[in-house]
This record gives sequence, structure tokens and C-alpha cells, in this order.
Amino acid sequence: MKYRSGIAAILTAGFFWTGSSADVPQIEADFAWRMAERAVAEGPRISGSKAAWRSILWMKREAEKYPRFRSRIMEFSEEICTGEKITFRNLVVEIPGRSGKFVLVGAHYDTKYLPDAPREFVGANDGASGAAALLAMIRAIDRSGEMPPLGIRFVFFDGEECRVEYARNDGLHGSRYEAAQLARNGMLRDCRAMLLLDMVGDRELSITFPAGCDAALRQTAREEAAKLGMQRFFGDYSGDILDDDLPFRARGVPTINFIDFCYGPGNRYWHTTEDRLDKLSRESLKTVADVALALIWRLGEEQAHR
Ligand SMILES: [Zn+2]
Repeated sequence: MKYRSGIAAILTAGFFWTGSSADVPQIEADFAWRMAERAVAEGPRISGSKAAWRSILWMKREAEKYPRFRSRIMEFSEEICTGEKITFRNLVVEIPGRSGKFVLVGAHYDTKYLPDAPREFVGANDGASGAAALLAMIRAIDRSGEMPPLGIRFVFFDGEECRVEYARNDGLHGSRYEAAQLARNGMLRDCRAMLLLDMVGDRELSITFPAGCDAALRQTAREEAAKLGMQRFFGDYSGDILDDDLPFRARGVPTINFIDFCYGPGNRYWHTTEDRLDKLSRESLKTVADVALALIWRLGEEQAHR
């Protein structure tokens, strides 16, 4: 993603209590951590690389452990800004819900191509953490035996990272493709919201919702965080961030980006070889994924009362 503008993150300390979250599935932190370890074990996952291909295969095998859910690899090729033709692959895992409406939950699994560190950059936070959180959410829903109030479409995006500069043919490849496909087949009108998880594992967690996020989704997410006693980790960011939520937002879907863009002092670990598992914690993965699940359940309750 790309940092766009703005000066300060404002942490909000409001406290809300609007009911019980007892029936919302809860993440197993140890499982989420194992998934992050597994993702990082592939090394750099640059789009079009063998490691990216192996990554999508192991994530699909992981999702297939839950036969109630349908998982598919969506493959497409695009020419990128360098003139190379790259084959991109998204993984889609669909969980049926009690309503025909659905929530799309996305995270990118590719890592940034760094010319100075082609083999050392493993993207523990920027790449692995979001994918691990999504796999833990899928497992938590399966183990709960619950049918979500809304359908959930989990999408593991390829090609989020740009090679040079974000443009039509550089970066956001997977999310742009997914949004266009859903628009083309008429499904997008049933998409109640798009939740993005990106850089969600920092052991010094500070999620700040960028200015482009839907205001009502931000408010509801903060309320659900407060119910879980986790409100101190969630605030707002006055600037915007160019990320995989953009193609959905551009098509009128309310979006929210769970992103921690304060990764090390001055965001120093971002896009460097410092982005390793030792900077992450299992508790952070659980905190963000638990709040995301609570938000989905809450949206489902609201849908039921419409
Ligand atoms: Zn990145």
C-alpha cells in the first residue's frame, strides 16, 4: 500500500456497550501464529514467483480442511508496468450465511519486490499477517458450528504490491480483478461491506482506520473492539492509504481497512528486512481478527432488522 497524506493518528478512547458478543466465533491465537510462520517459511512471495504459487496451494489445502466451505483459485494474467506478463492468483473461500448478502474479507499474500534484498525480505507483517488472520477466521467459524448471519467471501489477494508506482498496470492487481469480476456477474450489489486486513500482526499494535473508510463501519468496529476490551488498539488516521479496498470503494461498496501503518519507530520496519516474525505477536493477530469477526456478526444483526 502507499501512504498518501495526513499528519497524525488519533486514538479514540470511547467506550460502548450495546449487547453481548457471546455467539461470535473467537480466534485461536496459536493457530493464527502457526499460519503466519507457515506463510513466512516460503520466503519472499513476489507475484508470479514459484513461492507465490506454492503459497496459494498451501493456503488452499488449509481452506479445504473445512469441507462446508468452497475454495477456488482465480487465475488471470496481466502485463505489468515493466512489460512482463505476470500470472496472478487469488484464493477465494466462500462461507454461506443466513442472508443472501455477504461481506468480503480480504488480505494480500504477496510481498513487495525489493531489488536490494531479493531473498531476505519475508514480509511477516506486510503479507503474511493478513493471510494468517483470514485463515484463523475461517477455522474459528468452522469450529463454532455457526452459520454466519451474512455470507462471507474471503479473498487472498495476489499483486497488491507495486513494482514501481501504483497505476492501472502496477499494484492492486488481485483486488481490482476481484471487484471487476463481482461487478460483471452482478454479485457486487449483494456485497454489504468489504473488510481489509493488512499489517495486522505488529506486537505494538496500533490499528488506525484511514480517512477513506466508511464512517459507520469505523464506528461499529470501534464499538465491537470496546466490547472485547480492545478499544485501545483501534483509532483513526486523518490521511488516506492506497490499498486493496480502493477498487471496491470506487464501485460504491462501504469499506474498512484494518491497517497498522506505524510498524516500528516512524514505520521503519515497513518494506525492509526488519519485517520479520520477531516484530509480531499472536495476540495482535487475534485482536484484529476477533474484532473483524465481531463486526461481521454485528452487520448481520443489523441486516436482519432491516
Ligand atoms: Zn507492502
